[in-house]
Amino acid sequence: MRPPLIAGNWKMNGLLKEARDLATGLRKEIGDNAGGPEVLVCPPFLALAAVREILDGSPIKIGAQDVHWEAKEAGCSAVLLGHSERRHVMGETNEMINRKLKACLAAGLLPIVCVGELLEERNMGVTREVVERQLAKGYDGLTPEETARTVLAYEPVWAIGTGKTATPRQAEEVHHYLRKLVTQKAGEAVGKSIRILYGGSVSPDNVKDLMAEEDIDGALVGGASLKVDSFLKIVRYKS
Ligand code: PEP
Repeated sequence: MRPPLIAGNWKMNGLLKEARDLATGLRKEIGDNAGGPEVLVCPPFLALAAVREILDGSPIKIGAQDVHWEAKEAGCSAVLLGHSERRHVMGETNEMINRKLKACLAAGLLPIVCVGELLEERNMGVTREVVERQLAKGYDGLTPEETARTVLAYEPVWAIGTGKTATPRQAEEVHHYLRKLVTQKAGEAVGKSIRILYGGSVSPDNVKDLMAEEDIDGALVGGASLKVDSFLKIVRYKS
């Protein structure tokens, strides 16, 4: 019902050569991905065209790491929105994310909308309020049909790039809550079908336990997506 999605966020790592090598390695290994999860890579902006050429015709999809609300074309089929580094380093607001989300939907892109709390917010016990606000404002004005064309990613900020993963229980609790909120906003069918990825220090060692949770439908992977070997182990979490 919810096909698993494994997405690699390369951020600004590597130059063109590294991006080409990584894409070539992944294509070789995941060229025929029959029966596996859907796979998406989000290379640095300057490597998008080169990676697109290499992955053209393969089952690996390409996403951008951000987008503007004015129409532009970069040859991607998906895009990350509201990554914590956009929110907390670049000062991106929920209102900006909402404008970008609407632009992505109008352009037929698959938006992956990231939400998640800071460590202080978790310690204060306001995780639910934080993700609820991010979801309500980020998705403001979307119809249920539009909501169904999005993917959510729960990325606790304290777990990104820190090696500290949320436990499967901690992640599941928030995923379950997010699904409940989507159900309230867009109806049961959309609540059941929307995919919610977990992101935050996902590795070959913890992916299987995370993916075993009811409401975790995939992973958004940073550091461990930069090597063919470790990303492949995550993609093949079932074996
Ligand atoms: C990310 O950048 O979205 C991310 C989850 O990074 P990492 O896997 O390195 O924590």
